[in-house]
Amino acid sequence: MPVPRMYKTEGIILRQRRLGEADRILCVYTPTFGKMDVKARGVRKTTSRMSGHLQPLTRCMLQLAQGHVSDVVAGCETLESFQPLRDDLDRLSRALYAAELIDRFVPERTHSFPTYRLLVETLRRLAEAEELDQTLRFFEMRLLDQCGFRPELEVCAGCGMRLEAVDNFFAPISGGAVCRACGGGGMGARTLSLNALKVLRLLQHGSYNDAMRVRTEGTLGREVENHLRSFIVCVLERDVNAAAFIERLRREGAQHAVEA
Ligand SMILES: [Zn+2]
Repeated sequence: MPVPRMYKTEGIILRQRRLGEADRILCVYTPTFGKMDVKARGVRKTTSRMSGHLQPLTRCMLQLAQGHVSDVVAGCETLESFQPLRDDLDRLSRALYAAELIDRFVPERTHSFPTYRLLVETLRRLAEAEELDQTLRFFEMRLLDQCGFRPELEVCAGCGMRLEAVDNFFAPISGGAVCRACGGGGMGARTLSLNALKVLRLLQHGSYNDAMRVRTEGTLGREVENHLRSFIVCVLERDVNAAAFIERLRREGAQHAVEA
């Protein structure tokens, strides 16, 4: 039997699934090799020394041995555990959403340093920031950009005319904002308020600090979220599971506020 080739890489565990009695398959996002599945042997045994380092959302240094189907974890070490994400359901739900989006958007074995960096920065921000939703909006817009699905926000995505400074429409199927003439006919177009358009443009062009300076609580925040979410669902051609989790926490939070 040939000696397997060993190599090291850092990566973030996006998700895991059980394999057989004691093993797991981990989906890892790495800066150099992109997204890949690796096998972790024996990590579901209570005696495993590796299991603590291989939890979802952990950034770790992996030592991997080349395998036939998937490479095998030979050693690992935690680089960042993002502990605050695990202690707070609001933070956790948003971090899982970010990991799920990366999983859906990023193809297997295609490296992308900017997207890897975006995920690391987003997990750090979600662990610390007070404004979690705006942090997630910034992440969504950057990810769409990096994956080649930048929404059109300057001119009408239907006719190419410059958008007037009034309420327009947002039509994911057309590729972004559309003018009143193009958006009136349906095609899933929804009203896009001028303020929401301004926030979307800021998310697209501004820095993270710029994006965090605007206040987007209440209806404006929900409007921006709904437009971006509908765009993402349109691109992916399916819903994002973790989004429903965030919604449920919000509803339960509102319920507690009413009962208190
Ligand atoms: Zn138009």
